[in-house]
Amino acid sequence: MTTMTTDAHVDKESNPWESQRARFDLAAQKLNLDDGLWRVLRYPNRELTVYIPVQMDDGHLEVFTGFRVQHSIARGPAKGGIRYAPDVTLDEVRALASWMTWKCAVVNIPFGGAKGGITCDPKKMSQGELERMTRRYTSAILPLIGPEQDIPAPDVYTNSQTMAWIMDTYSMTKGYAVPGVVTGKPISLGGSLGRNEATGRGVFNTIESACEHLHMPLKGATVAVQGFGNAGSISAQLLHQAGAKIIAVSDSTGCVYNRDGLNVPELMHMKALCGHVDGFPESEPILPHELLALGCDILVPAALENTIVAENAGTVRARIIAEAANGPVTPAADRILESKGAFVIPDILCNAGGVTVSYFEWVQDEQHLFWEVQDIYNRLERVMKTAFSDVLKIHVERKVPMRIAANMLGIGRVAEAVQIRGIYP
Ligand code: GLU
Repeated sequence: MTTMTTDAHVDKESNPWESQRARFDLAAQKLNLDDGLWRVLRYPNRELTVYIPVQMDDGHLEVFTGFRVQHSIARGPAKGGIRYAPDVTLDEVRALASWMTWKCAVVNIPFGGAKGGITCDPKKMSQGELERMTRRYTSAILPLIGPEQDIPAPDVYTNSQTMAWIMDTYSMTKGYAVPGVVTGKPISLGGSLGRNEATGRGVFNTIESACEHLHMPLKGATVAVQGFGNAGSISAQLLHQAGAKIIAVSDSTGCVYNRDGLNVPELMHMKALCGHVDGFPESEPILPHELLALGCDILVPAALENTIVAENAGTVRARIIAEAANGPVTPAADRILESKGAFVIPDILCNAGGVTVSYFEWVQDEQHLFWEVQDIYNRLERVMKTAFSDVLKIHVERKVPMRIAANMLGIGRVAEAVQIRGIYP
């Protein structure tokens, strides 16, 4: 029997790898997954830990720990972002890599799943330090990545500039430009139109579908958004444009609330200018736990893992929980939300718009032929709405929560690929 060490210092509820496994086991059971396949899919294919020496601006040498985990390459090249954060652990990266496998399968794009991360505090690092760390990390994971092997993308606290450094480092070792080695690149390097707003757009598309299913008009619906980074702010903007009322928004600096609805374009402007939402005019400050407990129609957790846990899940009053973040709800909180009748749009469906447009970007790079933005939005909407209705069908027919339905769809597709390919040798 395969065993795996996990990060012992992280308690079980907040360890994303434990959360991933709990959902995987439930879905595999519902699928009557063969015992051998169950073991193949439960663990990642490959894990690489690297130690990254970086010359800091003050002259001293720092060594950062980085990871790249490929969970599955059964359906295509491994795909997934790279995050920079102080609390990145191998277990977190493992969980995120597995979620990428199921996510790509849910939206039916021909990729496997991977994730990378570096344990560091990017907010305290200069651009020069970030560039040197990114380039050295890239050279350390070079044997794993490539347009046909494993394609990184932005994630928490990485962006198109980070991707440009990775693309350049990889290309310099080849001697020619290889744009398809990463997605989420700047447009000038072969990035795709629409990639920057893709996650938020996909979140919006799935909320539209959920509202339709629940016969809840989106116009006039009240929304609270926890996390105002790329995914949170773009979803808020699109919901606002569709006539929903964004009554509360938070970021790491604070939470702002206005019962009559916040002016989202102005809030985005202030965030871009000053870097925070705190102190926004025509709003009152509230506490993070108050935002989660607001009486609203839609709650969008768009920050990090473990936002809604057993301790606070009982206070959540929203009808729809749209998981723009990866892993914002723990399995213990799932059960509480379920008993309250909340409709959860699970992360591997809700935030799959990002990787879907990453796929479009990779296709365009491989073809050296670029699409118009409206074409990308239309294709994205089609993919998201098809995935939503595929998951909903399992939810209704098999009477399982949306999260388990999404896992069943994703795991089922990957299991089929593994089974048809057969086990080598
Ligand atoms: N980091 C994003 C996610 O978690 C995007 C990954 C990608 O585009 O490869 O889905």
